[in-house]
Amino acid sequence: MLLPISMITGSAVAAASAAYYATSAVRSQWLGATVWRGRTDTNEVALTFDDGPDKDTEELLDVLGDLNVNAAFFMIGSQVERHPDIARRVAELGHEIGNHSYSHPIFVSRSANETRKQLDLAQQIIAETTDIRPLLARPPYGVRTRAYFSAARNLNLQTVQWSDTGFDWKDHDAERIARDAVQHARAGSIILLHDGDSAGKSDRKRTIAGIPLIVAALKARGLEIAPLSRLIEMKSQPQFGAEQTNA
Ligand SMILES: [Zn+2]
Repeated sequence: MLLPISMITGSAVAAASAAYYATSAVRSQWLGATVWRGRTDTNEVALTFDDGPDKDTEELLDVLGDLNVNAAFFMIGSQVERHPDIARRVAELGHEIGNHSYSHPIFVSRSANETRKQLDLAQQIIAETTDIRPLLARPPYGVRTRAYFSAARNLNLQTVQWSDTGFDWKDHDAERIARDAVQHARAGSIILLHDGDSAGKSDRKRTIAGIPLIVAALKARGLEIAPLSRLIEMKSQPQFGAEQTNA
């Protein structure tokens, strides 16, 4: 069952969107082409982190480095302004970077003009800061509108949602986050986690503590973590001057 997004308005969005869009609606192709999982003919899955860069991102990068794992980071433009060095480090380590808007609005409550500015500005800030021009976008809360797709098309951004999540925006411990993240994982899974908190309320220590558990559980099932672009069969992001040190 899919409700037209235009029927969900105002504060109802905040309450309904987290649970609703985290499940079935994120896969909707109703308003535009959306990838929500990758190729299923290999044993590969992808890890994705939203809402950073933030104060815990560096610790996450260390953990991913120790485990030799490549991930995709869907960054908020205003967070890149706050933490430019961390954004650059994500790029220098060879992780992929996607556009997650400038200030994390729910697009259904924004005009077409504002929506376009949100994507344009984030794209510009990420490119200037990291030397990477994102090819991937994920709208805040997974909420997509016609204006969002129009803006994304103008920037040649491919929309990537997710198939699995650790529900790490809830108050869960590392074990629970890891269990939820891998519970239904299979070839092609795109796993949603967070390295920042768009509401500014929570740190991401539990998500980070869950990463070794997630990696081990995937490995035990014969699944390998691959770059998101490979999973969805896109060309790698253009890198200007950034050395890849974490293949
Ligand atoms: Zn987000």
